[in-house]
Amino acid sequence: MKYLTFWFNFSSCLMILAAIAINCAEKLGSGESYEEQRQKMVKQQIVARGVKDNRVLEAIRQVPRHLFVPVEQEYLAYEDHPLPIGHGQTISQPYIVALMTELAKVQETDVVLEIGTGSGYQAAVLSLLARKVYTIEYVQSLGLDAKERLHSLKYENVEVKIGDGYQGWPEHQPFDAIIVTAAIDHIPQPLLDQLKPGGRLVIPLEADTELQNLLVVEKSNQGKISQRQVIPVRFVPFLGTRGKTP
Ligand code: SAH
Repeated sequence: MKYLTFWFNFSSCLMILAAIAINCAEKLGSGESYEEQRQKMVKQQIVARGVKDNRVLEAIRQVPRHLFVPVEQEYLAYEDHPLPIGHGQTISQPYIVALMTELAKVQETDVVLEIGTGSGYQAAVLSLLARKVYTIEYVQSLGLDAKERLHSLKYENVEVKIGDGYQGWPEHQPFDAIIVTAAIDHIPQPLLDQLKPGGRLVIPLEADTELQNLLVVEKSNQGKISQRQVIPVRFVPFLGTRGKTP
């Protein structure tokens, strides 16, 4: 009887140890720590594709992307693609986050607006570069989760609001930079109006149902608007009224 109990305990211990080992192996993927995976991601996916701004690269090296994705996706957090975050939404591919941030040319004294908080990852990256980040999310539960996550990870200069980002955030305008992370077929006029002279707006613009282009819109110090297309991209659609009266 004693022998049987011992054997039972011993084998359950083994099973528990095996489960822990499998779990760790899954989380670490290739056996590298998240920190190592993140450094590799910056080098192979971001620097290799031409992002050069050292402040942007450093911010991305610091933000623990695996804590911004659902737990079951954690081991994929540093892969070269977007990931689902629930409610049909996604956290963008790391390279696209880096590129949009570089294009926004965020300075330490800047006040930045993001439309489409999602997981809060882009906002966390921006928070390390700007003085203040305002971010608006349409889907309530995503916004609330992101708010909680950003707070617990101590990104203290970020403010999250639930609502339709089409109208911008008039109380805190003008913004030095605005980043939109959902695709729309025109540039929302309220966002253009809330951009500071000398400011930049980065937005995925739908050309047709198949094609979107990443656009950088600049407002000169004299208030003149100019724009250029950067690369084709694929973003989730902009929700809400899209400027139409409901
Ligand atoms: N920047 C996010 C990724 C966003 S995916 C991140 O770093 O994780 C696009 C997000 O935009 C989704 O969460 C979607 O709900 C949100 N969105 C879409 N339309 C919106 C609108 N009109 N106002 C605010 N957020 C919107």
